[in-house]
Amino acid sequence: MEGPAFQCLPPWVKAKLSPKAIECIQKVHDWVENECIPAEEVMKEQLKKDRWQTPPLMGELRRKAKARGLFNLFLPHHFKESPGLTNLEYSCCAEIMGRCYWAAQTMNCHAPETGNIELLAKYCNEEQKKKWLQPLLDGTASSGYSMTEPEVASSDPTQIACRMERDGRDYVLNGRKIFGSSLSNKDLTFYILMACSDPENPNKWARHSMVIVPVNTPGITHVRNLDIMGYDMAPEGHAECVYTNVRLPAENIILEEGRAFEIAQGRLGPGRIHHCMRLIGQCERAYELALIRSIDPRKRPRGKLIGEFDSNIERIAQMRLEIDSSRLVVLNAADTMDISGNKAGKYVIAQSKILVPSMAARVIDECMQLYGGLGLTQETLLPEMWTYARFVRLADGPDAAHRYQVGRAELQAAPVFREQHQRYQDKRNELAKKHRLQSGRALL
Ligand SMILES: Cc1cc2nc3c(=O)[nH]c(=O)nc-3n(C[C@H](O)[C@H](O)[C@H](O)COP(=O)(O)OP(=O)(O)OC[C@H]3O[C@@H](n4cnc5c(N)ncnc54)[C@H](O)[C@@H]3O)c2cc1C
Repeated sequence: MEGPAFQCLPPWVKAKLSPKAIECIQKVHDWVENECIPAEEVMKEQLKKDRWQTPPLMGELRRKAKARGLFNLFLPHHFKESPGLTNLEYSCCAEIMGRCYWAAQTMNCHAPETGNIELLAKYCNEEQKKKWLQPLLDGTASSGYSMTEPEVASSDPTQIACRMERDGRDYVLNGRKIFGSSLSNKDLTFYILMACSDPENPNKWARHSMVIVPVNTPGITHVRNLDIMGYDMAPEGHAECVYTNVRLPAENIILEEGRAFEIAQGRLGPGRIHHCMRLIGQCERAYELALIRSIDPRKRPRGKLIGEFDSNIERIAQMRLEIDSSRLVVLNAADTMDISGNKAGKYVIAQSKILVPSMAARVIDECMQLYGGLGLTQETLLPEMWTYARFVRLADGPDAAHRYQVGRAELQAAPVFREQHQRYQDKRNELAKKHRLQSGRALL
């Protein structure tokens, strides 16, 4: 564990890695460094030819990665379909994958596939697994996750309004969705969609259900594609779709009616950690570009290298501190999930989701600044990296919503502190009396 694949890992993490994980991290590192990063330009060029078809190079790399045993590494070890890594071990792989934006996809470890696969593995019956999960694991199908709607505040999913009604042996969907993968993507096979099946239920957490919607089902209209900060995000993309009397067989429901929130919770925890670790990988890559620019002999404002200015030396130190401390937070979240389960890890997962995307956007922005004007152009990957960091601040729920939850949970501890401080005060009064001092003043 002396090589570059492990150099960013703290000793407590290294101590927990199994021999299998050590081998896997090394293989992922070699794959990303030798097969993905050098192919970035070719991938871009192929995509220019057909924006909505997965580039042939991606197919080629996926086949090769699968043959090398680098497929589906994310699935936690308690699933029978899992290759056997813990969340902590996989997080180390995810950071390396993050060094190239699309490397995770070559290993079938990309969003929203990872969350969808985990959801299907956890909540589907055997029949459904055969039909929907297996093709995703094999890499022969591709899925989207469709929850968000334009007409409600989707950060509060109890408001999701797309209607789902039982009609004989079918369910019928009516509503409007945005985001999720675009129907323009020729490889998209199905959505996992959240809809409201029981709007009158007094328990607002039991009103919604999750269903599997094949994209070729009649009644789905593709309204438009959405750009993210000017990028079309092809070939996956994001779209607005209208569902008009979309009929699905009743067996497409996941688990049963009213259990969407239970399912959504199971889906989101690990996915958030994966995004965060990949963003840390992106930060490392951006940081390397900033370092290279800092010693570029052609760039000497006022006769000095960019990295010779005290202010830039401090900036570099600050970036290092922010990346390293964020990594500790996410690895701690992954370890907590391994030791105590996803539910117990809720708080540390939220910590990661709040901290990492803003940290990454800040660090990448600083790297763009050090790089000068070209840092904001297609000459570097920095604008795409920044866009990724910026969108993760919103995707899977805005950070404000997570802060609100963390803050509310923290406030529940206030009465305990109040009692504790009362005990301090009682003790102070007692001591003041003993030492004949004036008592009764509260020292908070
Ligand atoms: C690139 C990208 C990819 C996405 N991918 C998907 C996808 O695959 N599937 C999918 O279904 N959706 C996806 N989304 C949508 C995303 O999940 C939603 O945009 C997000 O959940 C917020 O919902 P909203 O847009 O309705 O905003 P709203 O719910 O209206 O929230 C707007 C703002 O209100 C504030 N706010 C909300 N709650 C609180 C709170 N509790 N405290 C304080 N302030 C608060 C925040 O500032 C928040 O950003 C994606 C979005 C982006 C940008």
